[in-house]
Amino acid sequence: MKGKLDNQPVNIQSREKYVIDTMFELTPDYITIQDIDLCYTWVSNPWAGYTEKEIIGKTDFDLFSHEDAEILSKIKQRVLETGKPETCNFPVKDREGEVICLEGLCVPLLNSQGGITGLIGYFRNITERIRMENELSRTKNYLEQLINYTNAPIIVWNPASEIKLFNKAFERLTGYASEEVIGKKLDFLFPDLSLSKSRAMIKQTLYGDFWESIEIPILCKNRETKIVLWNSANIYDNEQNLISTIAQGNDITSRKKAETELEESQRKLNLALESGSIGIWEYHEKGQRFILDERLKKMVKIQQKVFDGTLGSFEKYIHDEDVQQVRDAFRRTLENDEPFETIFRIKLEDSTSRYLIAKGMLYKMQGELSKITGVAIDITEMKEGSERALFKLNEELARSNKELEQFAYVTSHDLQEPLRMVSSFTQMLAERYGDKLDADARDYIKFAVDGSKRMYELINGLLAYSRVRSKGDYFTEVDINEVLEEVLRNISLSIKKRKAEIKIGIMPLIRADRNQMIQVFQNLVSNSIKFSKGIPKISITSKEQEDNYLFSVEDNGIGIDSQYYERIFQIFQRLVTRDEYEGTGIGLSICKRIVERHGGKIWVKSKPGKGSTFLFTIKKDL
Ligand code: ADP
Repeated sequence: MKGKLDNQPVNIQSREKYVIDTMFELTPDYITIQDIDLCYTWVSNPWAGYTEKEIIGKTDFDLFSHEDAEILSKIKQRVLETGKPETCNFPVKDREGEVICLEGLCVPLLNSQGGITGLIGYFRNITERIRMENELSRTKNYLEQLINYTNAPIIVWNPASEIKLFNKAFERLTGYASEEVIGKKLDFLFPDLSLSKSRAMIKQTLYGDFWESIEIPILCKNRETKIVLWNSANIYDNEQNLISTIAQGNDITSRKKAETELEESQRKLNLALESGSIGIWEYHEKGQRFILDERLKKMVKIQQKVFDGTLGSFEKYIHDEDVQQVRDAFRRTLENDEPFETIFRIKLEDSTSRYLIAKGMLYKMQGELSKITGVAIDITEMKEGSERALFKLNEELARSNKELEQFAYVTSHDLQEPLRMVSSFTQMLAERYGDKLDADARDYIKFAVDGSKRMYELINGLLAYSRVRSKGDYFTEVDINEVLEEVLRNISLSIKKRKAEIKIGIMPLIRADRNQMIQVFQNLVSNSIKFSKGIPKISITSKEQEDNYLFSVEDNGIGIDSQYYERIFQIFQRLVTRDEYEGTGIGLSICKRIVERHGGKIWVKSKPGKGSTFLFTIKKDL
């Protein structure tokens, strides 16, 4: 202490100095005195990088930059002029060029007559405070930005559960704009159903509890409910009073939905797997790892000592005849990316076998070996059932075919006799009484004779058709060269009449019904001659195939439109009228029956006006 304020006998000058000295002692701030010309006459402290001595006698223009000094002196001049104290707040650069922020008060210095003799300056260096304030506002700004723009939905409410902050992510989550919710009670965010739960939870936060992964649904602006997982924290002031609660809510609606759907489909899958005897398997490339689920292991009755988790060891359970087929299925899927599908038998210990259908898909992971994942279904019962049903159907079909054939045979056979009578008596009528009848009656008799002749042909055709299977001969070794020789002999008249040119290639020796082979070739060659306009040119060839012999009869006739390729093989189907070409429409249907009896197929390739080629196969090893 330099002195006391009271009882000090000092003159004005020294009194002022004494007051200032004492103030200076009590405060850490800077105090300056300037005369009327604003020259410093006294300073309390070294200041702005200058010592007291360096300051005394100087003006602000000597100490600071021109701009800074100008601002300072302007304020000070005003105080000198008006006599009114002024506060000021401004930055100046010190001796080293560092910016210092000053907050101050300029007061006029009065003499005993009240005249202004100078200026007292009272300054505080607030550089640090300003820096901290700036820092704080930057941090606050940064935090606000962070909270507002983070992807995590964040909400803040006060102890009265009024919403104080509602960030952008929460806006996106709920559809509400923050202006719509700030100041409102939290309640409106929760649907009726979860209101009581949410209220209880909010209350808990008042007692210091925080939420940790708590699921509470919220109600969005569009009335949609979303499931939200909440985490919260309480914010207290220095006296440990709760100021607010900050909570983060994660939208887990789609996750929840996916989880529920997954559970549901898992449940359905299990149900399907259980009820359908379905097992799951996984094949890792090269068969090194072949994984079966428990259900499949049970279905195959896997024994640990036989099955070592490789496809090789699994093959021991596959029926010997089916092993290759299963291997081929794996190869096809691995090489061609085809879906895996095969039906095979597994051998059980009691030497019975069961049918499994295995289906799978290839998965190629990047940089990993391929794997096939699939299911296997026990279809034994289904297969046996359908085989039984098929067998029964076949039997029924065979029986009804036989009955039909029998019927056709009997009727056509029995009809022949009365028909022969009708035709011979009408002929007799014409011969004996022809001259006694008029022209009309003779025409009628001619129609009757023609009609019965045609009916006779039809009945004969039908008889031949029904005989193909019922009255067929055994299959023997047949030389087709000989067959064709006989055919040409049989139709030599029409060949001669039409001057037909027939080329025959090398013909094989096959196993067949000789008479039926004659019928087929005779029908085809006759048709080729019949259905041509000029000189018929016919070529007959043969070709040996893996399982069949392929024969063809090619002509240069009128040809057939592709839409009739199938129809001409049906009984009584003709594409021409009887006026143009004679016939009954039975020939090709007989050929078809015969070829099918020989395990083959018959078809035609043709172009109208360009000729036709009839092709048929006869199975080898009959
Ligand atoms: P049909 O010869 O008695 O008429 P098909 O059953 O032998 O009976 O023949 C059925 C029909 O197929 C014939 O009416 C004819 O329209 C057609 N067709 C058969 N062969 C030939 C052929 N070589 N060229 C053109 N059309 C033919």
